[in-house]
This record gives sequence, structure tokens and C-alpha cells, in this order.
Amino acid sequence: MSVATAVEVEPFRHFDAEVLAVRPVGASLVRVTFGGPDMRDVTTSGPDQRIKVFLPAEDGLAVPVPTGADWYARYRALPPAGKPVMRTYTIRAARDGEIDVDFVLHGDVGPASRWAGAVAPGDRVVLIAPDGRYPGYRDGERIGADYAPPADADWQLIAGDETALPAISGIVAVLPDDCVAHVFVEVPAEGDRVDWAVPPGVAVTWLVRGEGDLATAVRAANLPPGAGYAWLAGEAGVVRALRRHLVGDRGLDRGRVYFGGYWRRGKSEDAPHEEED
Ligand SMILES: Cc1cc2nc3c(=O)[nH]c(=O)nc-3n(C[C@H](O)[C@H](O)[C@H](O)COP(=O)(O)OP(=O)(O)OC[C@H]3O[C@@H](n4cnc5c(N)ncnc54)[C@H](O)[C@@H]3O)c2cc1C
Repeated sequence: MSVATAVEVEPFRHFDAEVLAVRPVGASLVRVTFGGPDMRDVTTSGPDQRIKVFLPAEDGLAVPVPTGADWYARYRALPPAGKPVMRTYTIRAARDGEIDVDFVLHGDVGPASRWAGAVAPGDRVVLIAPDGRYPGYRDGERIGADYAPPADADWQLIAGDETALPAISGIVAVLPDDCVAHVFVEVPAEGDRVDWAVPPGVAVTWLVRGEGDLATAVRAANLPPGAGYAWLAGEAGVVRALRRHLVGDRGLDRGRVYFGGYWRRGKSEDAPHEEED
């Protein structure tokens, strides 16, 4: 007699992903579409869904990516010479067996930016991303996706730089018709602006670096009365200061402010985290 046992599916898993398409989006980002046979079950659990991207070694040698439940401990224990580069990105869009990821091209200084500047269809990476077979996702569970306005929020403040633009594009698309929100996005160039169709109560302010910046614009913003919710992401120091401003000067409940340090000026994602990070 055979007994069928339910196999427990973990919320995230490693995927072998192939680059299917590459196209510029705006002046500073490139959209990479990942797919291939192993990507069949990939999914997303929210508009700011984070994933891990393991880049191939720059010398062309395949570097094995640790797998299994303790992959992270084993990854950290690898000697620098044999360690694949791991970076954090956002799922910009998910379709059947495919995802889009928008990479900021911030120059030749980082392995991910360098990789994205030269990527071509057929290239391969390993991703750690949500596995759609995990039952919780069907019940609306969010894992690695932080945008979560409380049901009683009267208004929202969404603010970020170009690294948060993929997430903000996703957030803007799920704002309900009766939503009151102010969206601030700081981008490197005029050509990065996106014309979103937004509900009537949503104001969008684009800040082109050199002419305007997030810190000044948010501090000057006229925030509506009532209970707010803020989602902030971008350079860690900027975002930390904005959160302090919202909680300290504007009286927002700290539990209603999400802030994500998406990158740290002068520090690689590999650099150890200080307490302030
Ligand atoms: C949850 C989350 C989601 C993210 N989503 C995205 C996304 O969808 N798209 C995206 O492009 N990025 C995203 N990021 C940011 C991305 O992970 C970092 O920018 C990362 O440092 C890039 O890796 P790198 O190898 O290019 O540079 P690193 O090796 O990490 O850094 C090298 C140097 O480049 C600088 N640097 C890093 N990023 C930038 C930047 N954007 N502009 C200017 N200088 C920079 C660092 O300060 C450092 O001096 C996300 C980060 C997090 C935590």
C-alpha cells in the first residue's frame, strides 16, 4: 500500500534562470526578462518583492551556489575567491514562468551594475525567488515583500530613488481608486520619468537629481491630516533621515513607516553592516 505524503514546499527556492530579453527602460535602468524551464513556478507575493540574484563569475568560470535549507550559512562561509556575487533586486513584473527585473546602471563600480550593462539573451544566473507552489501565497501571504498599508490608513507617502523605482511602479499600480497618496521619486535623469495612470487622489512628484532631491521635497511636503502610512526606499542614509523626520518631526507612528536601505553610498552590498545600517 502506498501512502501519499504531502511534500512541504518552502516559500523561496533557487531557480536556474536564463536571460530571455534585455531592453532599456528610461535613461538609467535596463529591464532583464528571466525565464527558462526551471522558472515554471516562480511568482511574486507583493509589489516590492525582493529576490536574490547570484551573478556568474567574471572570469567566466561557473561558481556553484550553495543550496538547501542552510544555503545562507554555507554561502557566508565560502572563501572570497570562490564566492559567487549575490545581490538583492525587486521583481518588477511576474508572468507565467517569467519575471522582469529592472537593474540600475550606476557605472562600472559594482559587479551587478557591470553585469547588467553587458547582459545578453542566453546568459544565465541563479535566483532565489518565491516558489508559487507554496500554499501561503494563495492565501495572500507576503514573504520578502514589505509594502503593507494598514486598512485604516487615510493617506500614504511613497518615496524612493531609482533603485526603488521598480517597486514604486508596482505599488502605484495597486493603489485603490479612492487612495490619497503622495509619491516622490528621485531619478538620475529626466529620461527616467514614467507616466503612470494614477487615481485622482494621488500626486506624483519627480525629482531629477541636481534639480531636486527626496530629502528636501519630503520635508517640504504638505501631508494630509489623519492616519498615514509611509513606504521609503533608496540610499540607506537618505531613507534613515527621512524616517527620522516622519517619526520625529511629523509624528507618524514608527510602526507605520517602512524604510528600506536599498544601497549604501560608498559601500558594496557585501560590506559588513554597521549598527546604523
Ligand atoms: C530589497 C531591495 C530591493 C532592491 N531592488 C533593486 C532593483 O529592483 N533595481 C536596482 O537597480 N537595485 C535594487 N536594489 C539595490 C541594489 O541591490 C544595490 O544597488 C546593489 O548595491 C547593486 O550592486 P552592485 O554590484 O552594482 O554594486 P555594489 O558592489 O553593491 O556597490 C559598489 C559601489 O556602488 C555603489 N552603488 C550601489 N548601488 C548604487 C546605485 N544604485 N547608485 C549609485 N551607486 C551605487 C555602492 O555605494 C558602492 O560604492 C535593491 C536593494 C534591496 C535591499
